[in-house]
Amino acid sequence: MEDTASTNGTFVEENGNFRRYQRVSVKPDTWIRLGEQGHRGYYFKARRILHPNDYREDFEDLYETYQQLEEAKHQLENNRRAVKFITPLLMCLGLVLSFLPGIKDNGLAIRASFMLPGFVSPFIQDLMLNKLEKKIKELQGKLICPKCRRSLGKDDIINREHAICRAH
Ligand SMILES: [Zn+2]
Repeated sequence: MEDTASTNGTFVEENGNFRRYQRVSVKPDTWIRLGEQGHRGYYFKARRILHPNDYREDFEDLYETYQQLEEAKHQLENNRRAVKFITPLLMCLGLVLSFLPGIKDNGLAIRASFMLPGFVSPFIQDLMLNKLEKKIKELQGKLICPKCRRSLGKDDIINREHAICRAH
């Protein structure tokens, strides 16, 4: 690959760092960056120039992402079921605590044990649901066609071909 005197520069990744080059040999899996670091740079793998219409590897990656998404959705369903049981369980625990010696004669401690579920539930909710929901959204955002950037359906991913633009 040769940079024909561009102003913004052509950078190639080596051991996690990008270095500017005028002339360099690349492999299909080499990351290339045109221009500045961060969101202003344009990042792509060398295979995009070596085989511009070959999206096989992209679709393999997409399939992997799709599987991660399915797994995360499944996990979320399980967690939703578990969370439903956790609040009543915490209420029972609060009730049991309120009968313990040292607590049962102390009005403040009794109130605290009844407040336990309301206090702990938001944390459990965040840990078991919100984080997973965020992950699912991120994964869904990645399921776009590498050629036309439109979102892909399940069939496109399983067939390794986008039905609309025919990229495969
Ligand atoms: Zn497409």
